[in-house]
Amino acid sequence: MKEKLERLNAIIAEISDIGDATALLGWDQETYMPPGGAETRGQVSATLGRLIHERATSEEMGKLLEELVPWAESELDKDSDDYRIIKNSKRGYDQQMKFPAAMIEERAKLQATGNMAWREARQNNDWKKFEPIMDQWVDFNKRTAELFKPYDHVYDVLLDFFEPNMKTADVKAIFNAIRPKQVELIDAISKKPEVDDSVLHRAYDRATQLKMGEEIASAFGFDFNRGRQDEVHHPFASNLGYGDQRITYRVDENFLNPYIFGTMHETGHGLYEQNVPKEKHRTALYGGTSLAIHESQSRLWENLVGRSRAFWEWYYPTLQKYFPGAVGDVPLDTFYRAINKVKPSLIRVEADEATYNMHIMLRMEIEIGLLEGSMAVKDLPEIWNTNMQEYLGITPPNDSEGVLQDVHWSFGLYGYFSTYALGNLVSAQLWEKIKEAQPNLEDQIRKGEFKNLLDWLRENIHQHGSKYEPQELVQRITGSKINGDAYVKYLQTKYGEIYGL
Ligand SMILES: [Zn+2]
Repeated sequence: MKEKLERLNAIIAEISDIGDATALLGWDQETYMPPGGAETRGQVSATLGRLIHERATSEEMGKLLEELVPWAESELDKDSDDYRIIKNSKRGYDQQMKFPAAMIEERAKLQATGNMAWREARQNNDWKKFEPIMDQWVDFNKRTAELFKPYDHVYDVLLDFFEPNMKTADVKAIFNAIRPKQVELIDAISKKPEVDDSVLHRAYDRATQLKMGEEIASAFGFDFNRGRQDEVHHPFASNLGYGDQRITYRVDENFLNPYIFGTMHETGHGLYEQNVPKEKHRTALYGGTSLAIHESQSRLWENLVGRSRAFWEWYYPTLQKYFPGAVGDVPLDTFYRAINKVKPSLIRVEADEATYNMHIMLRMEIEIGLLEGSMAVKDLPEIWNTNMQEYLGITPPNDSEGVLQDVHWSFGLYGYFSTYALGNLVSAQLWEKIKEAQPNLEDQIRKGEFKNLLDWLRENIHQHGSKYEPQELVQRITGSKINGDAYVKYLQTKYGEIYGL
């Protein structure tokens, strides 16, 4: 059997190489590719995608797993790397095998036309333009769910692509528990005087911002010998294989937040991948384990560290030195309150820590409603606006700033949104554990020392790669599954102090 396992690993190593090449092409497409290269790039990426699919669903792969799975179940320790390699490989194989070739093609086409229609619809505030695409995606996702029967809930199937083994019932229970508490907090804050955050909208020159971002990413522990940072329209982090993690940014010279907090966020993603050990590369255990766990890392660095008072007690004097015109005469407390201003807003990606999850719950309810059939696509703009009013007390003036704002649905990504909120919740669960292990955590941050923090994350999360499923990983570390208690407590404490609640 060892030989068969070796053969499985060899196939996966090859798939992983093609995946890394595909990721590099994808990164280049968003950063430096001239527009003229788009057509060729599309062809090359499609060919690589087909090569991966062929290898991942080959007869040889099927036969190997047929023998390896029962062997692993009876002979191997369930906590061993080999057991997990076989388990993850089987999961990937089953997923790929269930999709008929015709549906894979249909999906690729719908993604292309869907994204084009969405861009136009959003630009022209024209929901009707996008409505037929939404209809097609709902139909496609219903058929996808059928392929994976039996399920407890139709939405489980879609969620599982992003969060292995996460159930709709669990996510609903988690969100139902936090929703009233977040609504209550947002409500209490809205009765307090609005925070003046004009300091963030002053002149921050580009070159100095870039210098600052590199300094902070390095201080967090990002290794620029094994990664780089480049400019894009919509920032992301990309893993090109061991030793090569790319993070990206956007700069606004009249608004400090996008670059600085975006850089901290993407650095968090990059640190996760940078610290998955080399021996896991080119195996079925390489890379972050799920989107929610990934987001817990980015949010932890962006918010728990980057929007904390301790961090700015360390870094604010430097910021004042770099931007004397903007913040030279602004007290730290004014700045701290500005970067933590809570105000219900229309756009998810611009939302603050206290209101962010509400945007997610709204989207998840819609996705579930569409799949269950309790909501109709044609009613979405109205449902969206009604729920925005109920959750955040505001109604979008148009669909571009409402139901049409996100790119995800145009690509058929259903089940994705919830991972953002789950990541927020996990970041706070981890933070409680880190503070238990390192009672002087805040003092470390106040001195600009992040090594012990990164070591803890490396030890508890990064080193495992994708060996453990998200719920399993959180349970191992915190003793309980993903839940919102720590996050709600974190919000109440932090904003209670800032707003005097
Ligand atoms: Zn992220």
